[in-house]
Amino acid sequence: LMVLTKKLIEVRNLLKTVDNNAKMTLPSIVVIGSQSSGKSSVLEAIVGHEFLPKGTNMVTRRPIELTLIHTPNSAEEYAEFPQLGLGKVRDFTQVQKTLTDLNMAVSDAECVSNNPIELRVYSANVPDLTLVDLPGYIQIHNRNQPAILKEKIADLCESYIREPNIILAVCAADVDLANSEALRASRKVDPRGQRTIGVVTKMDLVEQDTGVGILTNKDYPLQLGYVGVVCKSSGSGMNSQALIRSEDAFFNSQPSYRSKKVMVGTATLRRRLMQVLEDHMGRSLHSISDAVQSELDEARYQFKVHYNDRKISAESYALESIDALKQRFKEFAKQFGKPQVREEVRTMLEQRLLDICSDMYWSDPRIGNLPRLCLVDPYWPTRLDMSSGALTKSGVGRASVQLVVDVLMRNMERLTSTEPWVHHSEGRRKVMEFTNDLLRTKFHTAVDQVENTIKPYKFEVECSELEWQEGQKRAVALLEKQMADATRGLQGIKSTVGRRKLRNAIKYVQKADKDAELRKQSSSDAKPLDEAPPPESLDSDHPAYNVKLMERAREALNLQSRVALLQHRISAVRSRQCSTSDNKACCPEVFLSVVADKLTYTAVMFIWVELLNEFFFQLPREIDNRLYYDLTRNEIMEFAKQNPIVAKHLEVQEKKFTLEVVMEKLRELQKKR
Ligand code: GDP
Repeated sequence: LMVLTKKLIEVRNLLKTVDNNAKMTLPSIVVIGSQSSGKSSVLEAIVGHEFLPKGTNMVTRRPIELTLIHTPNSAEEYAEFPQLGLGKVRDFTQVQKTLTDLNMAVSDAECVSNNPIELRVYSANVPDLTLVDLPGYIQIHNRNQPAILKEKIADLCESYIREPNIILAVCAADVDLANSEALRASRKVDPRGQRTIGVVTKMDLVEQDTGVGILTNKDYPLQLGYVGVVCKSSGSGMNSQALIRSEDAFFNSQPSYRSKKVMVGTATLRRRLMQVLEDHMGRSLHSISDAVQSELDEARYQFKVHYNDRKISAESYALESIDALKQRFKEFAKQFGKPQVREEVRTMLEQRLLDICSDMYWSDPRIGNLPRLCLVDPYWPTRLDMSSGALTKSGVGRASVQLVVDVLMRNMERLTSTEPWVHHSEGRRKVMEFTNDLLRTKFHTAVDQVENTIKPYKFEVECSELEWQEGQKRAVALLEKQMADATRGLQGIKSTVGRRKLRNAIKYVQKADKDAELRKQSSSDAKPLDEAPPPESLDSDHPAYNVKLMERAREALNLQSRVALLQHRISAVRSRQCSTSDNKACCPEVFLSVVADKLTYTAVMFIWVELLNEFFFQLPREIDNRLYYDLTRNEIMEFAKQNPIVAKHLEVQEKKFTLEVVMEKLRELQKKR
């Protein structure tokens, strides 16, 4: 019973998933022979299918590692290329085509590559065998096959015919064995012929007595013997059964082969190979077990030292990452309360307030009249209504909701930009996507609600004395902050340019401006004044020569007048006239601050109800679903492996686990023997 080979092929395939450690390689049958010795025909006869590349132009350029898997209970016959992931290939002409492509991908210049092609064949009609097909030895070197190629092929073959592999030396009956490249190569590594089987092809081309002579020869003794075959598969068009029948008929028709107890026929060859491989597998069992054991010890050690024997799974990692994200989100939600949202919205509205003041008041030459000389002037109440309208009708709904959405998006971005999410760009993209989706679905309702609820303020804003006083304080604070900013800006220019230089530059700019003004006034005169007045000195620092400096001087001038204006406004807003809402038309900054505050409260209340409540509730659920429950096992595994630390951990753990399974199997096998 050939169980060992089958089991050990399983073991080998398992080991391949974790390691390619050479020490753990199991014996394979390596097929060598000269070009046209009939190597392909023999292999195809063993497999029972034509599947190898055909042609005269060096069609085998890479080793083909062929694993035959006997599947007695299945009618299905198919091949697999585990490296390519094509799935089951049922059509053997397709296998042949793929092999041809893979071989021809090696350039003519390189001609031979050491990189093997893996091929598995599953069938009820194949024995459990592992075979390696190699490029044929070449004799003649013509222009297409330089001498170096001969060496390359020989080296490649030599690397494969080492222990513990079995050598299948293919020789043609019509060529003297003394000239067999295959036998010559095998004798080098296996001088006593203990692991070489001779296969003599083309037995139909010699007389039966010659044939028997070859198979029983004492010149090149092989302990595993010679098997004679006839397998003209290539292009003969016969199916495998017909081939075997015609081979049988041939040997049966030649009495010498029956009487002399020689090994002939493909069926005999197959049996012989199975037996020999099984024997060698048995002999390798011990050393394989040792190698696996020491690999296992190493893996266990690694697992203990680096991971303290801590088991992880892709699932647990994914869940932990998600929990971390949800936890962070919860913390963010906790500190992002109504006061914080109000702060954001108020800041935005105060910016608008400043723009409106600057448009409607600060650039107005009559601004000096505020607040003292304004009470009787109907101009100012109208201004106030316009300004208030400009604020309430400035699209507060859309702007405030968008503002909150932007803050949320920015924060989600921030929450996913730390460990472990830095490793998961796809996951992060998803978070941003569903955060955005979630917010979009609420966006328009929230905008409409806010606009609806602030609508009354577009017509009238009532204001209690208490609200007015609060507004006054905020207006002062806001203006003071503006002034501090302007002062700081001015200070900055002074210290970069230098006080004295700046003062001169300002003087120059002022003078130049005045001159320009004069020129404009007298432009009706026929004769215009000369160009700009010549500078007093030819100093390159002189403002006339320094555009940048001129710009800075103008900037400083603007800041100076802004500071003066703000100073004036602060004392106005602070004045007694502005401490009561009766004079609201005279104190626009205060009134607008009251309006901004009311808008802020109302807007935030409804943003909270329409957008944030739902968002804070829904997002953690969305995180669970979109980042975990919607994923397949494989996707979760992929996710986990994006984190290099986790990938390594899983790899070591997986290796240890697989080696344990393998070791268990090997122990069972050893026990049975
Ligand atoms: P490879 O180059 O070693 O793979 O050799 P092939 O299997 O392609 O065979 C080379 C040639 O020998 C082909 O034309 C085959 O048809 C022919 N051939 C192979 N086996 C036999 C055989 O048993 N008898 C005869 N007469 N020809 C064979």
